[in-house]
Amino acid sequence: MSARLSGKTAFITGSERGIGKSIALAMAKAGARVAAHGLADPVEAQALVEELEQAGSPDAKFFGGDLRNLADIDSLMTGVLAWGAPNVLVNNAGIQHTDPIDSITVQTWNDIIAVNLSAAFHTMRYVLPHMARNGFGRVINIASVHGLVGSVHKAPYVAAKFGLVGLSKVAALEYAAAGTAESGGVTVNCICPGWVDTALVAPQVAERRAQLGVSTEEAIEAMLAEKQPSRRLSSPDEIARLAVFLCDRDAHNITGSAIPVDGGWTAQ
Ligand code: NAD
Repeated sequence: MSARLSGKTAFITGSERGIGKSIALAMAKAGARVAAHGLADPVEAQALVEELEQAGSPDAKFFGGDLRNLADIDSLMTGVLAWGAPNVLVNNAGIQHTDPIDSITVQTWNDIIAVNLSAAFHTMRYVLPHMARNGFGRVINIASVHGLVGSVHKAPYVAAKFGLVGLSKVAALEYAAAGTAESGGVTVNCICPGWVDTALVAPQVAERRAQLGVSTEEAIEAMLAEKQPSRRLSSPDEIARLAVFLCDRDAHNITGSAIPVDGGWTAQ
C-alpha cells in the first residue's frame, strides 16, 4: 500500500485489538498519523504505538477512555483534537452480549447502547465540523449485519447497530455538500461485517461447542452454515482494506451507505 493517507490523521476507537487494530495498522501503512484508542494498559499501549510507527505511521499516539462514560469521552475527544483534528474517524469499539430480552439486565442494555451507538454520536459531533471546514473527511462506522437484519438473543446489539446505520445516514446527508470532488468531500458510511475472526465472537463459539459437543472448528462451521452462505469467516485485514479504500478521494460519492461484508448473509 502506498502512502495514500500521508498528511492525514486517523482516529480509530477500540483499536488495541481485533478489527480496530487491523484498521489502525492499515491506516499506518497508508502513511496516516494514527490516534489509537481502547482499554489497553500502558505497556500494551506503548507496544501498539511502536507497532503503528513500524508499520509506517509518521506519528502515533494512544488515547484511553471508557466509552460508557461521557466524561471520559469528553476528555478523550479534547485530547485527540489537541493532537490533531482527525481527517478519518473510525467508530469501531463495540461490545456484544447474547441473551433473551427478558434476561438482559438494564446495565447490559445501557452499556451496549453507550459503546456501540452513543459513543459514535459523540465522536462525530466533535469531529465532523473540522472535516467540513477542511473540505475532506471520512467517517467509517463499523456496524454489522445486525445493523441490517435481526438475530435472536441480541436485542441491545441489534438495536445499537440499526441505530448506528440510521445515525450514519443522517450525518451523511447533513455533510453531503461539504467540500468538492477535488478536495474529496465529507462522507459517512457503515461497514457491516458478518462473522469476522476476532475475540468478540469467541463466547458464541464456546457456547456452540458446549451445545453441540464439538471442536472449535466444527462450532465455527455450524455458525457459518446457519447464517453466512460463503461459509468463510472474514479476516480483520479484509475489513481494514475496505476502510482504507473508503478514504480515497475517488470514494467521494460513496456516502450514506451500509456496505455488507457478510458472504451473502443479508442477501438471503
Ligand atoms: P474486539 O472485542 O476484538 O474489540 C473490541 C474493541 O472495543 C476493543 O478494542 C475494546 O478495547 C473496545 N471497547 C470495548 N468496550 C469498550 C469501552 N467500554 N470503552 C472503550 N473501548 C471499548 O471485537 P471486534 O470483533 O474487533 O469488534 C470491532 C467492531 O466490529 C465492533 O463494533 C463489533 O460490533 C463489530 N463487528 C464484529 C464482528 C465480528 O464477527 N467480530 C461482526 C460484525 C461487527
